[in-house]
Amino acid sequence: MSAVEIPIGHREVIEGLWRAQDRGRLSHALLFEGPAGIGKFQAARWFAQGLYCAGRGSEGWDGPCGTCGACKRFAARTHPDVYVLDPLEQEMESIKVAAVAERGTGEDSVCGFFRLRAMEGGGRTVIVREFERAEISAQNALLKTLEEPGQGALLILETSRADLLLETIRSRCVTVRFGALSNADCTRVLESQGSAGTAAESLVRWASGSPGRALAMAKESAEEVRGLFEQVLNGSLDPYQATGLVLQASGEFGGATPTAQLRTRTRAALDLLLAVLRDGMRALQGVDPAQLAHGDLASFAFEQSAVWAQATDNLIGLRGEVELNLSPEGVLDRAFLALPQARSKAITQTSRGSN
Ligand SMILES: [Zn+2]
Repeated sequence: MSAVEIPIGHREVIEGLWRAQDRGRLSHALLFEGPAGIGKFQAARWFAQGLYCAGRGSEGWDGPCGTCGACKRFAARTHPDVYVLDPLEQEMESIKVAAVAERGTGEDSVCGFFRLRAMEGGGRTVIVREFERAEISAQNALLKTLEEPGQGALLILETSRADLLLETIRSRCVTVRFGALSNADCTRVLESQGSAGTAAESLVRWASGSPGRALAMAKESAEEVRGLFEQVLNGSLDPYQATGLVLQASGEFGGATPTAQLRTRTRAALDLLLAVLRDGMRALQGVDPAQLAHGDLASFAFEQSAVWAQATDNLIGLRGEVELNLSPEGVLDRAFLALPQARSKAITQTSRGSN
């Protein structure tokens, strides 16, 4: 990525933050919180670039100009006053204490960076992506800096899982909430990434306002996997075969090792299946299936709500087991077995009821 792109759907929030900074009311620690994959990290970079853009303050300025020295350094990621800790790019499964706490060398840790004097005027800014990956020791290491950040320091922590952060971290930050995108904005993001057409339309519908999720689903062959769910639900595919087919489906799955990739694949399949089941539950509660991402599959939920609810509960439990490193194959088997049971019981109930 070269230049920082304008974050679609979050402009108003960022403009509000720039105004707060103009009035000297910006907190030194911000928690950018909201659903995963909606562009919070990109919004953080764009916001920070705006703080340093040389054109800021001039009439009509409405965002980073992209041409001044500061903006160019930002795009080239060489701005000396900005440090970005991006565990995705740096392939860190977790953020360890060494990445946060100050070490002798200073420059390559969050706290160390704040200690160095701002070199271009203006304060120093640190952005940490997916801060929920920070281990407890790493979160603790940040507390002192959060209390005494130093003159002009700004820390932006981005997260979709604030529940995994220490209360002491959350209470020292001002939370800035970011919402899911509209389908139209989500489509714009996908188009900007070269993804359009009917496949993209389905992805947008399934991703609940998260373009990052939609793009990940495209890579993870969500359409193919969802087709397998449909076959299991309508009884045309043996659940035991379904696991094998999900594991064989083509696709790119994140993770440094084959085991990690298998976990990502399993997690993606379970999340998708859970989304289908949850929409089934919503349909049962009276939501119009046409309004639901997976409304076309919700009809399978209508026969027997209790069994469907049980399957949903089972899935939530199984989702947790993936994180516990239990066998992904076994977890998927059990997930699929929950479905035809639900289906056949539902059929039994219906036929009994109509007799
Ligand atoms: Zn600029």
